[in-house]
Amino acid sequence: MAAVLVEFICPLCSGPGIWAYPSAIIRCPYCTRWLTVKDVHNPAKLDPESEQLILF
Ligand SMILES: [Zn+2]
Repeated sequence: MAAVLVEFICPLCSGPGIWAYPSAIIRCPYCTRWLTVKDVHNPAKLDPESEQLILF
């Protein structure tokens, strides 16, 4: 598990970021827009090995 997580922030509602893998497709829980990593203009990245995360 060396994958890096990316923070998906919806460009429409700028809702709270959702951490997921870059290959994921996320549905914004606020405006129901589908987001891919290409929609994230300035993604923050997180190495899961350096943080304790709850993955779902
Ligand atoms: Zn949204």
